[in-house]
Amino acid sequence: MTKRIIVVGAGGAGLAAALEAADAGASVLVLEAGDQVGGATARAGGVVYAADTPVQKARGIEDSVERLINYYATVSRHELEPRLMRRSAVGTREVIAWLEQLGITWEPERLYVAGLEFEPRGHLPTGDTRGLGPAGGAMIVAALLTAVEARDEVEIRTRSRVAGLVIEGGYVVGARLEDGCVERADAVVLASGGFGAGTEMLATHWPEATRHGDWHWYLGPDTNVGDGLRMGLAAGGQFQGRGGALLETPNFGRLNDAFTPPWLIYVNQRGHRFVDETDTYCVMPHVIGLQPGGVCWAVFDDAALRTVADSGHLDPYGLHVDLESNWTAARLREQIQAGVVKTGATLTEVAQAAGVEPGGLVATVEFWNADVAAGHDSTFEKDGELVAIDTGPFYAVELRPAIIGNTFGGLRIDDHARVLDVAGRPIPGLLAAGEITGGLDGDVYAGGGTSIGNALVFGRTAARTAVGAR
Ligand SMILES: Cc1cc2nc3c(=O)[nH]c(=O)nc-3n(C[C@H](O)[C@H](O)[C@H](O)COP(=O)(O)OP(=O)(O)OC[C@H]3O[C@@H](n4cnc5c(N)ncnc54)[C@H](O)[C@@H]3O)c2cc1C
Repeated sequence: MTKRIIVVGAGGAGLAAALEAADAGASVLVLEAGDQVGGATARAGGVVYAADTPVQKARGIEDSVERLINYYATVSRHELEPRLMRRSAVGTREVIAWLEQLGITWEPERLYVAGLEFEPRGHLPTGDTRGLGPAGGAMIVAALLTAVEARDEVEIRTRSRVAGLVIEGGYVVGARLEDGCVERADAVVLASGGFGAGTEMLATHWPEATRHGDWHWYLGPDTNVGDGLRMGLAAGGQFQGRGGALLETPNFGRLNDAFTPPWLIYVNQRGHRFVDETDTYCVMPHVIGLQPGGVCWAVFDDAALRTVADSGHLDPYGLHVDLESNWTAARLREQIQAGVVKTGATLTEVAQAAGVEPGGLVATVEFWNADVAAGHDSTFEKDGELVAIDTGPFYAVELRPAIIGNTFGGLRIDDHARVLDVAGRPIPGLLAAGEITGGLDGDVYAGGGTSIGNALVFGRTAARTAVGAR
């Protein structure tokens, strides 16, 4: 008899699950809270983190699934379950080929180092976005949606927010919509994304993402409040993992600005540098969070300000997401005028205005300028252009790790994407995939592309398990 599967959420994980379940012979109902499909996935750069792919081979890059697993284990300090890392590493390699069959192309020359690894593993897609979003994430959603639309077995209903699970005799047998309507099925796949837009959920499961009050905001859709996580926990599911990905921001406005220009140095409250300012966004907010007060200041001088363009943004990896720079001349001058950017005729004055230790800042900048003159950052070995800070007035911009990219904690699953209860047993009829799950990240982001990769891998896995064809 044909199995009926309900998928909650039509982002990357949900659409992958729907397609895979249909291909395994099931009839699928996808319930999506938003007006359109795509979720956070459609807003994303669309990088997929994968090893040992034909794309890498075409660039002459030697890599392997074992090396990827070893890398994950190291970055997460052996916190993650090997069975999940293995499913992820093998599955993402398969996903690259699967998406290619669906019309995505991967250009070997666009592979890039998306984390802290040596071998480039960030795969950037090329394809049609169908107007679903700005960049690669929308290309992936569009490819999945086109394939799903070609299958009669799948029905997608938007504006259909699921409010609860229907459980009978300990078995999940359906979903209850917000309007009270009940849909029954043989299994339910929770694919409703993270909880970046859920203030209460954040306070409970990731308090660090509420530490800076109204500085915090979420890059994904408003619908990602953690409904599915709440339902999974209410069904007896276990919460696993913690934290998430933050980006530092000067809070000039709700601007998605992942990359800062090279002419800044970052100092903490003591006035000390603490990092190579060009380090990857995977680790930067974590390092800022470890400084006193969890904040830092970007310091620059008037000579730098005079070289800044009036508009434009940095996009070093060519992600083409909706970036809007905080670091344009027009915006900086407006914020200087408003007193948000602190100014001073001397370094001591700007330090006092910002609440930074003046002696520390003066000594740091002296040391920095000597390094610039010598052409080498002798402390943090900063890459690229080194710019002196010697022409007043001087400026200091407070930065906090406050923009929420995605959440890492969520439902504990096994490598068949079954939701596990607090004793580690599968809850019958309940699967989960994507950002709703925990246990696939430690507290440092392993690399751009792990989230979408895992959403697709575990979406497919959940579908196969649900249909009983794994
Ligand atoms: C701007 C941005 C850029 C990013 N760039 C990358 C990148 O390049 N590479 C990478 O790996 N990761 C990236 N990420 C993270 C990544 O996009 C997400 O972690 C991943 O796509 C999550 O996929 P998902 O399917 O689990 O959730 P989503 O794609 O968010 O889908 C969840 C869906 O569930 C729906 N939903 C929620 N609640 C309910 C409910 N109660 N009933 C019905 N439906 C519901 C939501 O409306 C949403 O459509 C980025 C994130 C953002 C926001």
